[in-house]
Amino acid sequence: MSGSMTEEPNPAVTGEPGGASAGGPGACAAVIVAAGRGVRAGGDVPKQYARIGGEPVLRRTVGVFAAHPAVSTVVTVIHPDDGALARQAAGPAPIHFVTGGASRQESVYNGLKFLDNLDPEFVLVHDAARPFVTADIVSRCLDSARRHGAAAAGVPMADTVKKTDGVGLVTGTIARDRLWRAQTPQAFRYRDLLAAHEAAAGRALTDDAAVAEAAGLAVAMSQGSEDNFKITAAEDLARADRMARASAGPRVTVVGHGFDVHAFGPGGHIVLCGVRIAHTHGLEGHSDADAALHALTDAILGALGEGDIGRHFPDSDPQWRDAASDRFVRHALGLATAAGGRLVNLDLTIVCERPKLQPHNDAMKRSLCALTGLPPARIGLKATTTEKLGFAGRGEGLAAQAVVSLDLPDTV
Ligand code: MG
Repeated sequence: MSGSMTEEPNPAVTGEPGGASAGGPGACAAVIVAAGRGVRAGGDVPKQYARIGGEPVLRRTVGVFAAHPAVSTVVTVIHPDDGALARQAAGPAPIHFVTGGASRQESVYNGLKFLDNLDPEFVLVHDAARPFVTADIVSRCLDSARRHGAAAAGVPMADTVKKTDGVGLVTGTIARDRLWRAQTPQAFRYRDLLAAHEAAAGRALTDDAAVAEAAGLAVAMSQGSEDNFKITAAEDLARADRMARASAGPRVTVVGHGFDVHAFGPGGHIVLCGVRIAHTHGLEGHSDADAALHALTDAILGALGEGDIGRHFPDSDPQWRDAASDRFVRHALGLATAAGGRLVNLDLTIVCERPKLQPHNDAMKRSLCALTGLPPARIGLKATTTEKLGFAGRGEGLAAQAVVSLDLPDTV
């Protein structure tokens, strides 16, 4: 399910249609470091979960990497206490969550180890608290790493740099012409960085470039930006909020509708909203026949003007046989995120004579929350019968209808 604490890369998340190859030569993964407890920025949640321009910092940050065409896998490293908070904040982007360690360095190492089986050629490491990273900064950093082996985004030093003694008296002026302030992202050959972290275990190095340098690797600087600052103090959070609000263009709310029917057939359970429900019959279909999630997928695709589920996941393709339908919803939500949009609410009605769905309502709603990142108050879930009329009334099958609203940039 979306956002579960997975031990292995989740096949439902990696290898989405049209995505870059998830592992092996040329593939690039991103490790987003969000394990800090830093509340220096004020507020009652760590800064990476605070809202800027109405959106959690983490969602903005992971969105840049999840939507980047060169990045096939995104791993977010979080504090063990923050599971629910992180899933809510990250939204529906297809990412993995991994538990961090006692220091930033240990947290990055945990993220790297998670990628071991996937074995990407390159890895980007980025601080969750730098939400104004852009696709261009990511591309430049990765291109530089492809040329030099490793690269760190940064900005050349503009201020004169003074060295002082213990009481603040200047003892010298440092020539600034070759000085840079390092930022993230930082990009590396995955196996090189993993080995460098293993060699640096127990040392306190402040960024991954320093870990790579300690291992003797060449690291190039690539152009970052002044806007790619790290939210640390309360004034940074206020600046980030102002920037996020200023950069937001006009928005529009769009509505989508989806409808789906599946016939009952042989079997001992059905799946609705991702929840397995025991029944005297199964549902017939190419995938797991989860009509509720199919209707929801079609509603999201409809709101985006992106056709229907059959266009994205053809029945003729054997890879969708018996597929768990949460991947269809995740794909549609990924398209919404890539378009700069977000799901605002959803309202689902399931039309079914039997089994009785009321006992499963809470489980289905929890499943929808986990899948979409929406809070319970933005999810409508209803079941009805048709008073024994029609195919649903005769128990030949069931139907589901979904309506969603999406908040999108008004660019059309
Ligand atoms: Mg269907």
